[in-house]
Amino acid sequence: MQQGDRSPRESFAIAAGDARPHRFGVFASSIVAGVALVAGVWVTQNPVRGSAQPAVGVERAVEQVVEQMVTIDPLETLEIVIRRNDTLDALFRQLELSIADLAALRSLPDVRKSLDRLRPGDVILLTHLDGELKSLTRRISDTALLSVTREEGGFTTNVVETPLEVRPVAMAGTIDSSLYGAVNAAGGTDRLAVDLAEVFRYDIDFVNEVQPGDSFAVSYEQRWRDGEFIREGDILAAEFVNRGRTYRAVRYVMPDGSVEYFTPDGKSIRKAFLRFPVDFGRISSGFNLARRHPVLNTIRAHKGVDFAAPVGTPIKAAGNGRVQFRGAKGGYGNTVVLSHSGGVTTLYAHMSRYARNLKVGDRVKQGEVIGYIGMTGLATGPHLHYEYRVNGVHRNPATIPLPKAEEIPADLREDFLAKAAPLLAGLDRIKAGEEETRVALAAP
Ligand SMILES: [Zn+2]
Repeated sequence: MQQGDRSPRESFAIAAGDARPHRFGVFASSIVAGVALVAGVWVTQNPVRGSAQPAVGVERAVEQVVEQMVTIDPLETLEIVIRRNDTLDALFRQLELSIADLAALRSLPDVRKSLDRLRPGDVILLTHLDGELKSLTRRISDTALLSVTREEGGFTTNVVETPLEVRPVAMAGTIDSSLYGAVNAAGGTDRLAVDLAEVFRYDIDFVNEVQPGDSFAVSYEQRWRDGEFIREGDILAAEFVNRGRTYRAVRYVMPDGSVEYFTPDGKSIRKAFLRFPVDFGRISSGFNLARRHPVLNTIRAHKGVDFAAPVGTPIKAAGNGRVQFRGAKGGYGNTVVLSHSGGVTTLYAHMSRYARNLKVGDRVKQGEVIGYIGMTGLATGPHLHYEYRVNGVHRNPATIPLPKAEEIPADLREDFLAKAAPLLAGLDRIKAGEEETRVALAAP
């Protein structure tokens, strides 16, 4: 090979040749001056066996390839770390890989979609011989690798399952300034704090009611792969003490696979209705049967609650129900009315727009987005006007006792209690400090 005659591929192969081949994170373009690269690529010049199949993560797969060095073909292994705006076409051209091979890959059933959906940070591992592709591996989900190998008749594809390892973790903490701060201090992520607040959202107002001295204990799952933390799994059991009052919740997987949380004695912690159909909304006007109307300037009952929030903020169905009305309704502007069991109807007014495809007669689930905050009709600013009626009579949605969702079905009760017992005992141990709080995110 002539020195003045290098292809870009060979150039950075040489430049990166002394790098350890099984670590990511350095972009070749910062190493090799003068070579215009979009992707970061590391190259091993070691002759490796082209058929090595990654069994686990891409990184581990590379280690295996290196460990199993067998001199059969002088293949090059490339690790491509995807950057913003990368396309495989551009990468193949820059690396002088066969465009015909890329076309052949794309023609394989199901491969095109999982191959072309590139996100920054994705890693593609491939081997080639003088630009002819021999194998390609990339992660297509948390639990699966796509592996393509050239064989005599062409490329064959294989999806390798790489299940995540589940590690139970437990921690406890006391609120000092914020829930986030306390969860972080105990070794949990912001995501865990959000999940914890979500579990107890029906009983505790985490925006306004949580105060210093409140405490929590939680056991949950972490998902790991090859020693790397991937994400948090479900909360298994949790306790929150708010203003001296103790709330406990235990996860249970229902027969249809959905996850519900129950109190230790099997009552649903979910209520049949959300107290507030908008997240992070501020009550700008309460329920008042003798209020002066801000637009009409007359005494007129305000038979609902107003939540001020920016235009476009999602509005959620307060409970499971059916769409009874959807359309413009005088001073209410764009309005949705839902009917629920027990003679309850809820009304949502002044919407800027409705959820796509929402129509009269549709079933909606609690928490489902039905529209977006606006100021249509008689409104001085963007807000949701929300009404709650029982058998046609307006009730104050901010104070009415909300009906509980159903408790655990009788035929599942025994199973629930059996599964809940060790989880609740675990919470007791965490609280007593017998179980060490594990800050597992920093573990090797
Ligand atoms: Zn109102």
